[in-house]
Amino acid sequence: MSDTSYAASVAALQQQFAALPPGAPVRLGKKTSNLFRTRADTGAPRLDVGAFSGVLSVDVAARTADVLGMTTYEDLVDALLPHGLMPLVVPQLKTITLGGAVTGLGIESSSFRSGTPHESVVEMDVLTGDGRVVTCSRDVEPELFFGFPNSYGTLGYALRLRIELEPVQPYVHLRHVRCTSVEDAVAEMSAACAPGSGVDFVDGTWFSTSEVYVTLGTFTDDAPTLSDYTGMQVYYRSIQRKKQDWLTVRDYLWRWDTDWFWCSRALKVQDTRVRRWVPKKYLRSSTYWKLIDLEKRYRFKTRWDLRKGLPPREDVVQDVEVPIDRLVEFMDVFAREVPVEPVWFCPLRQRDADAVWELYRLDPDVLYVNVGFWSSVALEPGEADGTHNRLVEQLVDDLGGRKSLYSTSFYDREHFWRLYNGPVYEVLKKTYDPDGRLLDLYDKCVGGK
Ligand SMILES: Cc1cc2nc3c(=O)[nH]c(=O)nc-3n(C[C@H](O)[C@H](O)[C@H](O)COP(=O)(O)OP(=O)(O)OC[C@H]3O[C@@H](n4cnc5c(N)ncnc54)[C@H](O)[C@@H]3O)c2cc1C
Repeated sequence: MSDTSYAASVAALQQQFAALPPGAPVRLGKKTSNLFRTRADTGAPRLDVGAFSGVLSVDVAARTADVLGMTTYEDLVDALLPHGLMPLVVPQLKTITLGGAVTGLGIESSSFRSGTPHESVVEMDVLTGDGRVVTCSRDVEPELFFGFPNSYGTLGYALRLRIELEPVQPYVHLRHVRCTSVEDAVAEMSAACAPGSGVDFVDGTWFSTSEVYVTLGTFTDDAPTLSDYTGMQVYYRSIQRKKQDWLTVRDYLWRWDTDWFWCSRALKVQDTRVRRWVPKKYLRSSTYWKLIDLEKRYRFKTRWDLRKGLPPREDVVQDVEVPIDRLVEFMDVFAREVPVEPVWFCPLRQRDADAVWELYRLDPDVLYVNVGFWSSVALEPGEADGTHNRLVEQLVDDLGGRKSLYSTSFYDREHFWRLYNGPVYEVLKKTYDPDGRLLDLYDKCVGGK
């Protein structure tokens, strides 16, 4: 898309917005989503943003790209790798979009050195709730720029983002370091994330209290052998079997997508008798999402389980940030109270110590570990749905952590706004969405709207 056709798409979108009944709520009309919380279908008009997918330009010398907001990371990576470049942080699921990751937070194994995707945005155009298109950066309309991350589309929609890029090498050499406790894993991750360690990527996989792996990835120009986890082989199982491994950079970036980390297990796709019949192109998180969506809508499995007399289950799907020196405490309670395995660890540090990301403040001096768990837990008699999610929410609070808002949350309004900077949000909302055409962040993330 050229600059002129981008301008024409923006004008057409503004006309679409203006044609909505005055005061009517607005929602984003997007084909894919990676949100887990259930939303009520309010019948509100949806803005068709189909034109905002694609890479406008790549400046190889400056190492930046102008990218449309609804571009999936899969398309973005495919457009950048031929230039020997990639975004600083590439979230693991192929259909996560750049705009979604910037407004809703993203993380990956480069986050210990590059922070979150919003930290490598140079400037962006946002269609705000009052129908304007505002270009913002650290220097121009900085209130919107620094208030946009964690606003989940409640201030406006990112249409174009200029992002920083980094050079890649063709392969990633992986070392899976086995640790026999979370304490050991903390020591291993701390060392790998220290300046000068020479490591490019760090994440971890917790299988049990005595079996944890820290995976250290380093760019390399040569690979003595290459593995392929896009077909019969399952990446997370290889972590337990191999001490080291080599992947192409593209396969490394998508290593978790083929089996949606390990969540494809629940859909029986890891059973070789099933897997061998599934065409490779369907082994991807977006396929599993469609199946989960069907289950959420029709509840086939839930009804089947009930008929068989099995207990009801609670979905426990969350990503939380815990300061690394509280990770042992977190996992002690988690292992006791939430029977879910494996669990993903991903260290994260704010990239620019001086920046203040108003709605999701992290302590720039602290190395956090993102703990990801995506499963369901059988409820004991008398346990209400939400028991385990509430426990985790409280625990994260007690340990000085932070919780992403893409899944279920239970905070009361007052507590929520204390955590996510209510006073600043109120000013932002009045400035960019004075008529409340977009949802309020609390109503959206906790109220299920
Ligand atoms: C099981 C599971 C595992 C996950 N694991 C990871 C992980 O490991 N790493 C990671 O980084 N993330 C992870 N996520 C979270 C995911 O990155 C966020 O939910 C992200 O916001 C999804 O982006 P999306 O593009 O799919 O947006 P959507 O799901 O379509 O939308 C998410 C929210 O952002 C808003 N939005 C979307 N696009 C824009 C835009 N252009 N401008 C403004 N607002 C917009 C929408 O209104 C919505 O409120 C996980 C989610 C799930 C369910």
